[in-house]
Amino acid sequence: MDDSVNQGKSILALEVTEEQKETIYNLFAHHNWDYKEIEIKENKDENKETNGAGNSEDFDDFLIEQNDNFEECPYCLCKPCITHEHNRQMWWESEIQMAHIRNSSLRKTDYKRFWTNLFHRNVWQDPRYLERKRAALRQDPRRRNYVYHRRDLMPKCVIELVRSWFPNLPNVPYMGHMWE
Ligand SMILES: [Zn+2]
Repeated sequence: MDDSVNQGKSILALEVTEEQKETIYNLFAHHNWDYKEIEIKENKDENKETNGAGNSEDFDDFLIEQNDNFEECPYCLCKPCITHEHNRQMWWESEIQMAHIRNSSLRKTDYKRFWTNLFHRNVWQDPRYLERKRAALRQDPRRRNYVYHRRDLMPKCVIELVRSWFPNLPNVPYMGHMWE
């Protein structure tokens, strides 16, 4: 990953309602834009940003560290699993939605969000992931048989969670196999 991903980025803090926040998330998802949620620490670390120690260090600030107190998930390679309660995001569903044909597009939106979460944990650059991706592409060169976002394979744990939130109707098969 080179540093260009963060070029021209700045931090925008807004005080918004839940509804407004959801609308902003949807807007970003619609445009397929990535974003990074930044925890606001009141007045702390204020000087850190202005020290200008160099680009590579700025980029490190955007990575979310794995938590070594947890076991690594064999699918998403995160500690704990990206679908673990510990990694809960504002947009996570709190209840299961009714089975519906439109759920397929809602699942896509959440795959994008999980893609971003995994991006910030460097999973897409992990050599073990890259090896799995090569193996999957040998089996599925046209990328039709697995669940992809931005040419990356959605891990099984993410697919299972998102499908549990947005199920298909009983007689409708899901698109895309799970890879392991
Ligand atoms: Zn996982």
